Amino acid sequence: MRQKSHPTPVFPSRLPDVGTTVFTVMSALASKHQAINLGQGFPDFPCDRELISQVNAAMLADHNQYPPMAGITELRQGIAQKISALYGHDYDPDTEITITAGGTQGIMTAILSCVSPGDEVVIIEPAYDSYRPSIDLAGGKTVAVSLIAKRDDQGDVHSYGLPWDDLAKAINPKTRLIIINTPHNPTGMIWEKTDLDRLANLVRGSDTLILSDEVYEHMVFDGQHHASIASHPELAARSFLISSFGKTYHVTGWKIGFVAAPARMMQEFRKVHQFNVFTVNTPMQYGLAQYLQNPDHYLGLAAFYQAKRDYFRDGLKQTGLKLLPAPASYFQCVNYTKLDRPQAKMNEADFCTWLTTEIGVAAIPVSAFYAKPVESGVIRFCFAKQEQTLLAALQRLQTL
Ligand code: GLN
Repeated sequence: MRQKSHPTPVFPSRLPDVGTTVFTVMSALASKHQAINLGQGFPDFPCDRELISQVNAAMLADHNQYPPMAGITELRQGIAQKISALYGHDYDPDTEITITAGGTQGIMTAILSCVSPGDEVVIIEPAYDSYRPSIDLAGGKTVAVSLIAKRDDQGDVHSYGLPWDDLAKAINPKTRLIIINTPHNPTGMIWEKTDLDRLANLVRGSDTLILSDEVYEHMVFDGQHHASIASHPELAARSFLISSFGKTYHVTGWKIGFVAAPARMMQEFRKVHQFNVFTVNTPMQYGLAQYLQNPDHYLGLAAFYQAKRDYFRDGLKQTGLKLLPAPASYFQCVNYTKLDRPQAKMNEADFCTWLTTEIGVAAIPVSAFYAKPVESGVIRFCFAKQEQTLLAALQRLQTL
């Protein structure tokens, strides 16, 4: 027992408004109540045994000491080739690509490497919950604009639009960084090539950088294509591109991803990275470097997840939940406000708690993607699950 006579000093919190991330909170609640966890985004099916064998082989081959700070050459080269083939931009693997401990670390490190106290950073809400605290820790000021929900005559959301007028107003000489996210978590909205052109118009001639979070890059459905920042030479010259092997290869627990950026930006990124994580575990880098050689492993992902999306959407149509569009990512948002039960009036966080504890299906309130919760009666499900998991969840949701 700690003695009262030796109290821990009181000190000001660096993140006074931050609690535990909603993904952790909802996963814990799901596990406590044995609910089916469609909250936090992760697959419930195994990754490819071939990938595990390749990591295993790397361990047995004694690749178990520190790798180079930026990551092993073979993996950086593989990433450079993949980006070149898919998006037509040639990053130099030596100076422009760094392996990170997942997308979230890449985002935090990128922000810490370029945002100084007093700088402004523009984000588009709803936004992944790590952006704002990362900006806070850098001493930056978050300027949030909101995605525009486009509605049909019945008032149902049929798509999302980028808030160009608000973006134009938000950007000024203090804007150090603009964070974009395509495919978007939680709405699945994707940027088109013309959107990148418009963004380029907004930042041309300024010193504003871009951070493009593209961790769901290979999950774009219905014949649409991912418009990577790397496919836009003018923007690529001022952008950090973030991606994640966890999402692409069903290994979210391995916490491994990468950041690509022009050499001058990457030089600053690595200054922070080396004192943050220093480097990322070696055998997984060797395994991934080999696995990456086969493009089928990521090119088949869109069809794989589109089938899951369609299956889940078909089942949801037999519930009182209203489907929002799900054009990309592994998330499906639904509106619960038309349910014929008192819970339809709950706020999103309370509804998710109720759904988890009473119906047995965990979801994420979309309000958690806003600094000041915006209540639109929308929650997010993750459909990166085996068919039997989705079926069991649908059976429970059909009781709504
Ligand atoms: N990106 C994942 C999601 O949106 C969660 C990542 C995490 O829990 N840190 O569900």
